[in-house]
Amino acid sequence: MLVCPVRDCHRPLQREERRLVCERGHSFDIARSGYINLLQPQDRRSSEPGDTLAAVAARRRLHDRGFTGPLLDAIADLVCPTPNDVVLDAGCGDGFYLGTLARKAGFSAHGVDIAVPAIEAAARRYPELEWIVANADRFVPYADHSFSMAISITARMNPAEFRRVLREDGRLLIAVPSADDLSELRGSGHDRTARTVETFAAEFALVDQRRATTMADLDSAAVQDVLLSIYRPMQSRPAEAMRLTFSLDLLLFRPRLLFRPR
Ligand SMILES: [Zn+2]
Repeated sequence: MLVCPVRDCHRPLQREERRLVCERGHSFDIARSGYINLLQPQDRRSSEPGDTLAAVAARRRLHDRGFTGPLLDAIADLVCPTPNDVVLDAGCGDGFYLGTLARKAGFSAHGVDIAVPAIEAAARRYPELEWIVANADRFVPYADHSFSMAISITARMNPAEFRRVLREDGRLLIAVPSADDLSELRGSGHDRTARTVETFAAEFALVDQRRATTMADLDSAAVQDVLLSIYRPMQSRPAEAMRLTFSLDLLLFRPRLLFRPR
């Protein structure tokens, strides 16, 4: 199902003991922790693209302390995963959402992120799942129609690639921060749902939509972690404990049927 990320190659990758290799001889090592780095030189905008180790660690602490649990539950309620699903998470971060859903539902899970620290963290905690370093904005390194579901939680949006790797009867969940997400820290934001639906309109039809919101009382360490995770400049004094709103707009799409000329 994985295909070679080299431009103009895209042939299937075969798994050997310590590496993946395509028939043209492009080869990719399997890391000690089990993930595979398929990032190509032209995919990098910097030498360490994506989330930093500090942001990944902060986000994982917030997940582990349960603040985002209600958001996870709302996502599970909307997509209703089954053991037969084959799921792609594009921009999976530390793997919390995909890994937790996969362990509950028992589906086949494949996480892609551009950040090595994020994928490393995901692979260490959920070694039974497949974790890939790649730039999903350019190319999702999987064969056509590989997945029954794709999810992107405050992450990548690549309608053409999502459409290509999804089955015709697949479903796509896009989660974007709501206008009131972390509004206590950054003020009221804007509603992203209309623009997101428009972004996907050529390839996908919206079939369901809901808002998941939870409020939590955070101690100063947790507030500091939120600031780290959103790359806000650190304050000179420690963050104060406060009540914060975590809120996502969840958009569920189905692929539009494409009519190809014979
Ligand atoms: Zn190749």
